Amino acid sequence: MKQGSGLTVFPGVAIGSAVVYRKAQTAAVTACGTPAAEQQKFEAACQTAKKQLAALFEQAKQTLGEEHAAILEVQMLMLEDLDYLEAVADAIAGGESAASAAAAGGESMAEIFANLDDEYMKARAADIRDVSGRVAGILSGNGGFQLPAGNFILVAEDLAPSETIQLPRERILAFVTKQGSSSSHTAILARTLNIPSLVQADILLEDAENCKILAVDGFTGHYYIDPNADTLAGLREKQEKAAAGREALEAYRGRKSVTKAGKQILLCANIGCPEDAKASMAQDAEGIGLMRSEFLYLGRDNLPTEDELFEAYKEVAETMRGRPVVIRTLDIGADKQADYLHLEKEENPALGLRGLRVCLTREEIFRPQLRAIYRASAYGKLNVMFPMIASVWELQEAKALCASIRKELTEEGFALGEVPIGVMVETPAAAVLAAELAKEADFFSVGTNDLTQYTLAVDRQNANLGRFYDPHHPAVLALLAHIAKCANDAGIWVGICGELAADPKLTETFLEMGFAELSMAPGRILELRKLICESEV
Ligand code: PEP
Ligand code: MG
Repeated sequence: MKQGSGLTVFPGVAIGSAVVYRKAQTAAVTACGTPAAEQQKFEAACQTAKKQLAALFEQAKQTLGEEHAAILEVQMLMLEDLDYLEAVADAIAGGESAASAAAAGGESMAEIFANLDDEYMKARAADIRDVSGRVAGILSGNGGFQLPAGNFILVAEDLAPSETIQLPRERILAFVTKQGSSSSHTAILARTLNIPSLVQADILLEDAENCKILAVDGFTGHYYIDPNADTLAGLREKQEKAAAGREALEAYRGRKSVTKAGKQILLCANIGCPEDAKASMAQDAEGIGLMRSEFLYLGRDNLPTEDELFEAYKEVAETMRGRPVVIRTLDIGADKQADYLHLEKEENPALGLRGLRVCLTREEIFRPQLRAIYRASAYGKLNVMFPMIASVWELQEAKALCASIRKELTEEGFALGEVPIGVMVETPAAAVLAAELAKEADFFSVGTNDLTQYTLAVDRQNANLGRFYDPHHPAVLALLAHIAKCANDAGIWVGICGELAADPKLTETFLEMGFAELSMAPGRILELRKLICESEV
């Protein structure tokens, strides 16, 4: 047995087989044989890649549906593209290794596609990179990533949100990553999914690859490689206790979240997709306090259409059966990237074109999303909320677009709901200007993840800054109190949807500050309700 530790992102115990996810590496350093030998290796790798893609296609058809799976078929065809095959053969004949020729050939073709005018063709650049990366990965010995059958614990160096979202969530028992921070979006996804997970783990990928059983204790932050019988028995006992604890929380299902002194608060869920709304209902969420709508844009190769978005929002609205739903408009940028949007690489992405800044700059992206939200408003209690606001004019400009879309849809004959408009308060500027913004907004929801990052000037993604990233910092708490006071003075409701909302050490403080709603990972709701119902505040 070997053991080590990491930082807990979501508690719980998981025991199972480990699967190591490695990003495809171009590994230009592979040994280079004669051109004829390299050409042969390349052709064999293409056959392996096709087999992997065919298996993935079958799997994706079951989990995502034929329409989404079709992209894998397109990737298989790319491996027969004569231009690609010729570019690689030329590079190999010129003395390059099969691995670097496969990657370079893909890159030069991807660039040609990225510069075409047609949006569909542009989007194919990402597929070409993906598929040539797979072939290069096979040639450099990492074999590409193949999902095994059954449930497993996923171990990786790091995971981007766009990668996490493509994984079969129902089969993942736990995540263990060597990098990552607990406020990264991948960590947030793990929490939403109720999956025990560790980041910054000192695990060796080779150890995980070669072990029979991996056990993760998300309560203590430890992992065990091939645990001995005693450890395994202890972990199984912990697993059972945790299940019993969850069972005890069932007494709070269906109850209001109200303190002994009669203070009531709404406990809502944070979600990324319609599936999560079902999980939220299963956890008795009183609404959706934050739908991170950008997850509908990640892990795909083209912009979702207005109709696709409409269907997703409608499904959330209907699933929540009249409970309020706050849809945050696209918050892409920083760590959440979609190649097909062609956002420029930035020196400081967290301070760059992200959130509402993208939407106000690229109306062709924003407009279909707003139309979809307004159309879906006929099916439930939808609210719209704008991320990354720093100035009053940004809110005014977004509101003007909402008004014109409402008018246009009404003229087109659509029935629309009310759709209150809110501000995600997550920049220090918005917090300081809360009284001004409150005159223009119907509600506030505080994004404490970014508010902490920007107030303390500490990158939330940077694993080395852990103890400097302190959401309990007096400056952050002072801003929270100020935001709540401004909202209450203006007569609008105010909630918190950052990770801090589920911090039991601050629940009573939030009640005293005047917050009316806390929104969190669905799996935390009953636990917080118990705390509130037992509180004297
Ligand atoms: C936040 O910043 O607190 C928040 C809820 O938004 P995100 O984590 O998606 O940036
Ligand atoms: Mg944020």
